[in-house]
Amino acid sequence: MSILERKNPGIVTRHSLKPAGRDIIRIDAFSWKSLASLSNMNPPELSSILQTIEKPLQYASGNSYGNLRKLKGLEPFIRHWLKKLLSFPLNPEQVEVIHHLEARIIGFDGLDFLDKRLRLLEIQEMLRNLKEKTLLPAEETLPLPTLEVFREGQKKLRTPIQFVKGIGPRLSALLAKKGIRTIEDALYFIPRQYIDRRQIRKISELTPGRIETVRGTILQADGVWRGRRRVFELHIGDETGVLIAKWFHFNPRVMKARFKKGMSLILSGEVRLFQFQKEMHHPEVEVCDGGEDSPSGGIPPLDDSLHFGRIIPIYSETEGLYQRQRWIRRIWKTIVDAYAPCAESGIPPEVCRRQGLLPLSEALRKVHFPDESDHWALLNEGKSPAHRRLIFDEFFFLELGLALRRSGTQREKGIAFPIQHRYTQALRRRLPFSLTPAQERVIAEIEADMRRPIPMNRLLQGDVGSGKTLVALMAALMAVEGGYQVALMAPTEILAEQHFFNLRSLVEPLGLRCSLLTSRLRRPLKDSIREEIERGECPIVIGTHALIQEAVNFKNLGLAIIDEQHKFGVLQRAALRKKGYRPDVLVMTATPIPRTLAMTLYGDLDVSIIDQLPPGRGPIATRVLSDTERFRAYRLLREEIGKGRQAYVVYPLVEESEQLDLKDATQMAKHLQRDIFPEFRVGLVHGQMKGEAKEAVMADFKDRKVQILVSTIVIEVGIDVPNATVMVIEHAERFGLSQLHQLRGRIGRGPDPSFCILMASPDTSEEGRRRLKVMEETTDGFRIAEEDLEIRGPGDLLGTQQSGLPDFRVAHFIRDFGLLAEARKEAFAIIEKDPLLSLPEHQIMKETLLFRWQGRLQLADVG
Ligand code: ADP
Ligand code: MG
Repeated sequence: MSILERKNPGIVTRHSLKPAGRDIIRIDAFSWKSLASLSNMNPPELSSILQTIEKPLQYASGNSYGNLRKLKGLEPFIRHWLKKLLSFPLNPEQVEVIHHLEARIIGFDGLDFLDKRLRLLEIQEMLRNLKEKTLLPAEETLPLPTLEVFREGQKKLRTPIQFVKGIGPRLSALLAKKGIRTIEDALYFIPRQYIDRRQIRKISELTPGRIETVRGTILQADGVWRGRRRVFELHIGDETGVLIAKWFHFNPRVMKARFKKGMSLILSGEVRLFQFQKEMHHPEVEVCDGGEDSPSGGIPPLDDSLHFGRIIPIYSETEGLYQRQRWIRRIWKTIVDAYAPCAESGIPPEVCRRQGLLPLSEALRKVHFPDESDHWALLNEGKSPAHRRLIFDEFFFLELGLALRRSGTQREKGIAFPIQHRYTQALRRRLPFSLTPAQERVIAEIEADMRRPIPMNRLLQGDVGSGKTLVALMAALMAVEGGYQVALMAPTEILAEQHFFNLRSLVEPLGLRCSLLTSRLRRPLKDSIREEIERGECPIVIGTHALIQEAVNFKNLGLAIIDEQHKFGVLQRAALRKKGYRPDVLVMTATPIPRTLAMTLYGDLDVSIIDQLPPGRGPIATRVLSDTERFRAYRLLREEIGKGRQAYVVYPLVEESEQLDLKDATQMAKHLQRDIFPEFRVGLVHGQMKGEAKEAVMADFKDRKVQILVSTIVIEVGIDVPNATVMVIEHAERFGLSQLHQLRGRIGRGPDPSFCILMASPDTSEEGRRRLKVMEETTDGFRIAEEDLEIRGPGDLLGTQQSGLPDFRVAHFIRDFGLLAEARKEAFAIIEKDPLLSLPEHQIMKETLLFRWQGRLQLADVG
């Protein structure tokens, strides 16, 4: 047996994978022949080839994808076997999937890590598909109901939950806390876990190492000391023996109140053996008597078919619903039985067949109450056929909406800018540096878009400090040259001002005017700027999003640039179009989203990426410190300032406690000035300061009159003081990683090394600390975004909540990426055929789409 086999039993075989070098595993496609002859598979079957392909993929996804880094040569391996597959008699759909697979594997070995991971998920999904295409019998895909029947069903599903028998006002208030307001919400409130109760064992039959279910009576219930830890223990007995259930994290009062001697319980969990005693740690427990649903206290019969002898759903509990699983289950059973059959979303039957999808009603039933034959492990991983249908459904309608928006944009007429490079050339000659190759490439992409007579709708991604502003300026100059106006919109006034001072110094020497429009301008000045804009005398206008969109009428708006904004460009365009403009749109963001994900998510945007920082930047070292180590931060500050450098001290300002945080920041500034650094000047800026006061402090900081700038989050974006080399971030645990990354981007802008110190409050959780550690390890924005994506989900990261994407209740972007890709393919194909969804067989689908997007389909020309 080789070392490899021992390390990864059952996944890697000596024959298909060979170690090459110390940590690299190279796959050798051609030694498979010997395996085939060994195991007497001659001629090999379709399914065994599929298995051969799946093995290294499975291996690659093991060890949290750590193995993926080691694996080399996957691309030629899979391509070899795909060719083999094509020699089988296949149906046309299978052939199509294989061709599609082939296209997705080309270039795989050259991808970066996260893209590889996502691609891997996609490929695995396609393989699953290939297998299931042969599995799903035609009769399982139902024909669609008529539009009338569908609407009838929808009406029932939208019924408020309190009309269900057994749910009164008190309970419906509790459910509302979970976001469950209608019957439909209830159907989509899917179990967080499943427990296999097809077999209930006696204590003597429990096998250590297995997850099992047992029934018994409480003999003893107590909190006890085990070494230095307090442990809550239940001794459970039946006629065959004793089992100890243990809790290591618990509230003694709650546990004591919950478990009483003599109660009958059902417990499920992993069986452990400790000093010859069987134990379960933190088992899932259900009280069978004296509890929730049997006021008489009698023991329910064992054949109670909802709770025993099957796979049991476990729902996440809310305050007041604690430990009422049986009761929730019973109510949900009524709801599912009565209403799941009404569920339909209108995905065409041929798509369902091709993708091997259960009918929606069937999926909703099974996801709550799985059948005897369903696979317990798949259910728990969210990968059962029922989950798969629900996930596909969510993705499909997301992508359908995106496809519609995109086709809507492309039918619009846009400006074909006549670009001669009059101003851009002049600017290049004046710049003290040359543009990076990445900037050049991105500018070329933008130029090509601008020349075409369709509106540009482009997302420009680039890490903090990668030089997006200059790219935006180049685009602006290309538009201005043709006599068009340009609007540059920033999320905050400070940032707008920053852009204004920056750009003005660059464009005025070219003989161009640039004006700033903020709410702080005094009345007569503001009005005169507005009038100039309306007369078309001002080619470049800078301001906040809101101001420009609401308060100004352009004479001739040709290009809108939206800075630091995750919102979909198309939504902004819709707002602008309402005012009669049809500009090209460039959205800029410093949140790096992996390309594959961005393309799929921003289905209606083209994406450009600046993947290179300008040369000559010093490294940034990051440390997480706790409060007791604060003196180290101060020592560092003093040292750096002694060398003539400057520092930021940043406070979070969260809405809920804005006043408090502001007080913190103000007090901190005072404290630092008076007690710690009397020899330096400490400045303070925050969002509620008056414009002039703020500007004065910032100017002093720029001129090095102020050495330490205490600020609230307002400096997150845009500020550019290369002499600042230290940043201390207070309450770092309150920020998202991407936000910390943005903040950190304010230092490390000069040639000297910089230092970022993250102060974690004493009450920061383990998880929070671990998260902050990521900041110590890397300054790669992509890596950080990836981490954020896993921890907080894409909604937070991409700002999808405000961006007008439908929410997901079942799907998970990373886990289900393969299905997302499939759903995208199907949805885009439908819009290609039926761009306005006007075919009669698409009407149910269209109504579902409009409902799920709730009026957020701007530019899509439907509804
Ligand atoms: P961001 O992408 O975060 O908006 P900025 O546009 O603010 O980055 O650029 C950060 C700094 O880098 C600015 O001071 C800018 O002048 C400078 N910069 C931009 N492009 C280059 C380049 N090609 N070479 C050197 N410095 C550059
Ligand atoms: Mg910027």
